[in-house]
Amino acid sequence: MNNENAKAPDKKGIALWQQIIIGMVLGVIVGAIFGSDAAVLKPIGTLFINAIKMLIIPLVFCSLIVGVTSLQDTAKMGRIGFQAIILYLLTTAAAISIGLLLAIIFVPGEGLNMTAEGGATLAKEAPPFIQTLLNIVPKNPINALASGNILQVIFFALCLGISLVLIGEKAKPVVTVFESLAEAMYKLTALVMKLAPFGVFGLMAWVAGKYGLQVLLPLIVLIVLVYVGCIIQVLFVYSGIIKIIGGLSPIRYLQGIVNPAAIAFTTTSSSGTLPATIKAAREELGVSKPIASFVLPLGATINMDGTALYQGVCAIFVAQAFGVDLAMTDYLVIIMTSTLASVGTAGVPGAGLIMLSLVLTTVGLPLEGLAIVAGIDRILDMARTSVNVCGDLMVSVLISKNEKEFDATMYQNVNRSIA
Ligand code: ASP
Repeated sequence: MNNENAKAPDKKGIALWQQIIIGMVLGVIVGAIFGSDAAVLKPIGTLFINAIKMLIIPLVFCSLIVGVTSLQDTAKMGRIGFQAIILYLLTTAAAISIGLLLAIIFVPGEGLNMTAEGGATLAKEAPPFIQTLLNIVPKNPINALASGNILQVIFFALCLGISLVLIGEKAKPVVTVFESLAEAMYKLTALVMKLAPFGVFGLMAWVAGKYGLQVLLPLIVLIVLVYVGCIIQVLFVYSGIIKIIGGLSPIRYLQGIVNPAAIAFTTTSSSGTLPATIKAAREELGVSKPIASFVLPLGATINMDGTALYQGVCAIFVAQAFGVDLAMTDYLVIIMTSTLASVGTAGVPGAGLIMLSLVLTTVGLPLEGLAIVAGIDRILDMARTSVNVCGDLMVSVLISKNEKEFDATMYQNVNRSIA
């Protein structure tokens, strides 16, 4: 999937992420000056959060169906797709674990002492884990869509996607409809994100007015943790897999990913980076054309390790900020929803933030937590998008090697020059 709209920075004027940071800084200043009176600005933020909520169900539904139906059903595709999905899931699990561990050890949300508006916290007992699992299968998918039960929606979307693949030709018209709906939802996401600077301004003014300037310190810790997690994921998990499973030089891998990683870092869109990712795979890392053109678009759609890591860290951060005690089952739900949410995240700027609202809602954490994360989301998006792309490349190298469609000489001579 190649999304032109994904290249977020507007040609004219200030780029969106800069506007968001300005909104955040202005919000903090206004909040610091006006104190609790700044709460009058909160509706602007509520408007933004509502607009985000509006996107979740249709975005996840369409984007997942498109992701699944992009898997073609020939035997080889099936085999490669299977390997890819196993690797995607394993690396996503590693990423979430790193994120959760870092957030649990370094407690970034400590001292924020926030309270949710409705007073609704997780305190009410979570259902037993087995019940959560059983509930994933919707008795009535329309009801699941209407009531916004996201796990059920994801499950139904996956099933529908698989069935569409299985009926082949007959699925064409429906798949086309979902493809254009998904495109429209990406566009709508981009439009809603234009509201972000105002939303963040209103929310930060309210947050800073209510809680004071000490809200800023945990944000710095949060940024550092997400960056450290991303670095661990690339340097240890990906390089380790390349070395141990692939028997290849991790240094060459790291050299080969420089270009697409840099593009991902600046555009914060793995879909937008896709051409550069494919180019690096084929011209630097020795991946064959068929494998690059199948595994990488699929990865850009469903493999988002950086996003999963970020969602893990942020969910724990929000729980800590609002003083919500998480039980073991909550951690499992976070792992599960972050995995599914990362699968359903579109490779466009800021999509992970929208999916974070899904994780928070599923775990029962207050959505106000989004307000704090939204202000610094671009900075986090840069790191997580790079990891998303590096993960896809790692998987493509491994599968290419496994399928004996690998140019080892090219891999050994990875050219470092930034093209
Ligand atoms: N921007 C990310 C990407 O394109 C998705 C996200 O927001 O997490 O990969």
